[in-house]
Amino acid sequence: MTEAVEQTPSPSPFHRGEQTVQQRLGVREQMERFGSRVIRDYMPDQHREFYRLLPFIFVGHADKGGWPWASILFNQPGFITSSDAKTLDINALPVTGDPLADALHPGTRLGLLGIELPTRRRNRLAGHIAERADDGIRLTVDQAFGNCPQYIQTRELERVDTAAMPRTRVEDIVELDSRARALIQQSDTFFVASYVDNGSGEASEGADVSHRGGRPGFIRVDNETTLTIPDYLGNNHFNTFGNFIENSRAGLLFLDFENGHLLTLTGTVEIIWDAPEAEHFEGAQRLWKFHVDHGRWINDALPLRWKLDEYSPNTLLSGTWNEAAQLREADAQRNQWSDYAVTKVVEESSVIKSIYLEPRDHPAPKFKPGQFLTVKIPIAGRDTIRTYTVSSAPADAIVRISVKRERASETDLPDGLCSNFIHDQLKVGDVIQAKAPCGAFTFDASEQRPAVLLAGGVGITPMVSMARHALVEGVRTRYIRPITLISSASNRQQRAFFEELNDIAAQSAGSIRSFWALSQVDSDMEPGCGLPPARSDNPAVPTGCLAAG
Ligand SMILES: Cc1cc2nc3c(=O)[nH]c(=O)nc-3n(C[C@H](O)[C@H](O)[C@H](O)COP(=O)(O)OP(=O)(O)OC[C@H]3O[C@@H](n4cnc5c(N)ncnc54)[C@H](O)[C@@H]3O)c2cc1C
Repeated sequence: MTEAVEQTPSPSPFHRGEQTVQQRLGVREQMERFGSRVIRDYMPDQHREFYRLLPFIFVGHADKGGWPWASILFNQPGFITSSDAKTLDINALPVTGDPLADALHPGTRLGLLGIELPTRRRNRLAGHIAERADDGIRLTVDQAFGNCPQYIQTRELERVDTAAMPRTRVEDIVELDSRARALIQQSDTFFVASYVDNGSGEASEGADVSHRGGRPGFIRVDNETTLTIPDYLGNNHFNTFGNFIENSRAGLLFLDFENGHLLTLTGTVEIIWDAPEAEHFEGAQRLWKFHVDHGRWINDALPLRWKLDEYSPNTLLSGTWNEAAQLREADAQRNQWSDYAVTKVVEESSVIKSIYLEPRDHPAPKFKPGQFLTVKIPIAGRDTIRTYTVSSAPADAIVRISVKRERASETDLPDGLCSNFIHDQLKVGDVIQAKAPCGAFTFDASEQRPAVLLAGGVGITPMVSMARHALVEGVRTRYIRPITLISSASNRQQRAFFEELNDIAAQSAGSIRSFWALSQVDSDMEPGCGLPPARSDNPAVPTGCLAAG
């Protein structure tokens, strides 16, 4: 069932289901504006040229029983041509056993995904079959749009001699056999077909096929018929989820990239909008479950092989189900002491040292930038407990704390116990104990509001974590929350993280700006000293030491 949604008068590029999801997730208006600009009822020349270069294309359709399937069509590059902006000719037929073969007649609505794996380029198209020829189909375009390259792993294509290939063998299945479970568990890519036809006849309805990528282990095989799949941040069109809420059936296609087998499944889906399980899965916005109804192994289907080149940067920032389980476990043990080994000690300034900590026999804890670690260090035979803000970002592989040496303000008082021990005695290889990070002074990198962060002395530690996090999130979400960071220190010698923050600012191309105020300035310092060379494309990026009190 769909929720009530205020329909945008036709012709919206999005159908009712897509609009409902966009509204639910707060992107409705912005997507209507964006979609009207980028979703066309014809192919721009760039798309037509792109399709001509492809050696394969993915196709979604629904069979006579209404079950969606995702398929692949392939041939030599040039097998897809376009005589005009509304027409696409595909000179290829489905492989033996592909359910698409029974649907190649005029009027069938198809979703197409052209994807170039070496470059991550992709374009999407919805259309219907205008003509069926002996060796292919002619398609009339209903909707065409470009797609971002997120989560696409690059792969190089190789062809094998078809004469040397065994004959294609089709095996019908109604549940996932051990081979299917193994392929799914190691897959970093699959394709999902969905279908909606509310009878409106609008171009936004019909079939869709979409790419899904993640790290191997991102799909959980719950049992012989059920998969649980995270949904990552995408282009906010919600073509797939929009179809799901109108028609809860989907087709999944898994490619055995190394051996040329296909596993094609069709079944029903269940969306889990607010899954507690997603909380520990890095990058998961929500989850969906796929229940297999039936499917097929199409063995030796393809004379194509793909060699994995590299994972997409977004993929590398996402999680796996194993990691999610470990993080959940770690969360459950938040209040317990865990061992951390000191792997590096770095002098950040004359008074601040960073200690790099690696969890021993437990995963790195999940935390928010700004949170602090409670540590327990045996000093002179007694456990000493102190709190130190984590100065690394949640995505960093290690946990870093940065500690200022506390000297006594008066000569007859003792120096700070823990900070002096850390500075003078803690060394690489030592093991200390810590509880999982906590604290409410945190930073949300997804907020649109610019942030001004003010730091004095060692108070800079949470800000470094926040700035690092904002930059990393920029890679994942393509949005860097604007930050102006103003830090103060007594003098140049005590100024910690100067280079690190300058690097972050430079990489953010102007979204993150770092300013310093020093109370004692050396005679060779000038406002702006230490700035990296001005960037010609953005000369206004201000970083460095700007002011002296
Ligand atoms: C949420 C939070 C986050 C923090 N994050 C950081 C961080 O990122 N980096 C960081 O460096 N610190 C941080 N701190 C501070 C840190 O927890 C410690 O308080 C700091 O390191 C001092 O601990 P110490 O054992 O060295 O000093 P202590 O032995 O606890 O002494 C503290 C001060 O008291 C003085 N003193 C000792 N005995 C006496 C006495 N008898 N009479 C009068 N004065 C005395 C000492 O000279 C010293 O200056 C944070 C604190 C909190 C609460």
